[in-house]
Amino acid sequence: MTDKTVSIDIKKDLFGANEEAAAITADIFKKHGIRSVDIMGSVGTGKTELIEGLCEILSKKYRILMLAGDLATTIDADRVASHGVDTVQINTRTACHLDARMIQLALKDVDLSKYQLVFIENVGNLICPAGYSLGVEKKIVVVSITEGPYMIRKHPLTIKRSDMVVINKIDLAEVLSFDVDALVSDIREVDERLPVFKVSAKTGIGLTELVDALGL
Ligand code: MG
Ligand code: ZN
Repeated sequence: MTDKTVSIDIKKDLFGANEEAAAITADIFKKHGIRSVDIMGSVGTGKTELIEGLCEILSKKYRILMLAGDLATTIDADRVASHGVDTVQINTRTACHLDARMIQLALKDVDLSKYQLVFIENVGNLICPAGYSLGVEKKIVVVSITEGPYMIRKHPLTIKRSDMVVINKIDLAEVLSFDVDALVSDIREVDERLPVFKVSAKTGIGLTELVDALGL
């Protein structure tokens, strides 16, 4: 490289800017006493269903805001809104994950003094969302019985960057002869201490334990 060439590390700069934006959001949440959780997982794993189940339990105790990340639709936000929860849709169009700047934009016109708890549903994909801080307290990754046995082994980095794992649709494990213990040991391979919850968002199994673990 000659001294006429300027080299910049785009990836490093972008991630640096994201961390800064996330720190600002974290401060704002803290100032308003707002608890916050980011739910990640691939399409069809039951992220929306999990948020609906949690809202059923928590909406009597907290005023909840849900931010719904999606490429194109408002399906998830509409479903959660039907539980009496306020929602903001973030249509990312082409972006396959939420970043901290999108969260800032989504919150720009929101009166945060109205809320005590924020759920973020990330864009449905298990690869990149975990790489972007959003300024939330906890990042939960959701995998499910219907996605096959290799979700953890194929996405170790996502597991590593999460604060807890939810294994959803546990009510289907028996009928699909799914080896839940094997999935749990895959998680243990990646992180020995990561909290794991066996849940059925649909039937409510395991939701109270999850709520307790979140300190909500
Ligand atoms: Mg969803
Ligand atoms: Zn992405």
